[in-house]
Amino acid sequence: MNPLDKIKPPVRGLRAYTLAPDRAPVKINQNENPFGVPEAVRAETLRRMGRRSWSRYPDFVPASLHERLAGFAGWTAAGVIAGNGSNELIQATLMVTVGEGRRVLISEPTFALYRQVTTVLGGDVLSVPLNEGLRFDVAALRTAIERERPDVTILCSPNNPTGCVIGAEDLEGLLASARGLVVVDEAYFEFSGRTVAPLLARHPNLLVFRTFSKAMGLAGLRVGYLLAAPEVAREVSKAVLPYNLNVFSQTAAEVAVEMYEEELRPRVERIVAERERLFAELNKIEGLTPVASRANFMVVRSAVEPRGVYEGLLGRGVLIRDVSGYPMLRDYFRVSVGTPEENDRLLGGLREIFAGG
Ligand code: PMP
Repeated sequence: MNPLDKIKPPVRGLRAYTLAPDRAPVKINQNENPFGVPEAVRAETLRRMGRRSWSRYPDFVPASLHERLAGFAGWTAAGVIAGNGSNELIQATLMVTVGEGRRVLISEPTFALYRQVTTVLGGDVLSVPLNEGLRFDVAALRTAIERERPDVTILCSPNNPTGCVIGAEDLEGLLASARGLVVVDEAYFEFSGRTVAPLLARHPNLLVFRTFSKAMGLAGLRVGYLLAAPEVAREVSKAVLPYNLNVFSQTAAEVAVEMYEEELRPRVERIVAERERLFAELNKIEGLTPVASRANFMVVRSAVEPRGVYEGLLGRGVLIRDVSGYPMLRDYFRVSVGTPEENDRLLGGLREIFAGG
């Protein structure tokens, strides 16, 4: 007997979602916050953790975090779920919506998890390509929503890995035609200066996902959250495991939200300014064409094979992401926006690689 015969065939057909284990002093491969956690956030988290019991379970519902997130997002706490990374909430949402015969519409290239989890759960993925400029093809999405009537549509805005965003008006059009749920993954919204959260009040089929792993600088602590109509949130929470959020992560997330304005927003602004500088400098290198992005990363079209650029930079101490295996991105690599020094090191490495022809 071959044990693999018992694995669902669509799962066997999936490529595993993995990440090259390479390491380098300049790590710009995962869209993390290059400035780390502000000292004030770190110190206050440790102070609160010193007083909190480590031997007791966390709150059944992390109500104090939900309250702060509701204030931060301008939504009701009854429609907030915090999770162990937004990955967990993507999975929970798909677990309560997807099974055999259910259809999930995505726009590719995008974050690989949507396709992976949908497939594992036995659902079918419908995919609309981005347009040639690597932006959302809103007309094609609308046609697909009207014709195929997907149970769930997932749009990532700003989109990983291309950095394009969906406008509120375009989204409203899609929400109005959709007969299913529409998820907008706003993992990078802080860098874009926009959010679709205000549409939640008018559209009970909209869900918004966010994370503490990017602008908030807490990727290691695994915190994400979902905003939805309270009745939808109640259903999604049935697929979330009890005590999913540990006390340390919950505490750090609360502190980060409380200190966002004074401690984190200035860093987000520096990252956005660096993104614009990086874009302009990359544009000056012959053989490279960066794609304008509203996130803390961008894809870059390269006249040299992306794998070669990856290896060349790794040899110079810079770790980027080779995204050439994604649909439409055969000639592209992705870089996260680092600190000014990290970005200079990236640019220096690329100038050397491309000067060689
Ligand atoms: N959504 C998108 C678009 C992402 O890029 C990522 C992280 N790569 C996530 C969700 C997952 O975030 P988290 O760390 O909160 O699970």
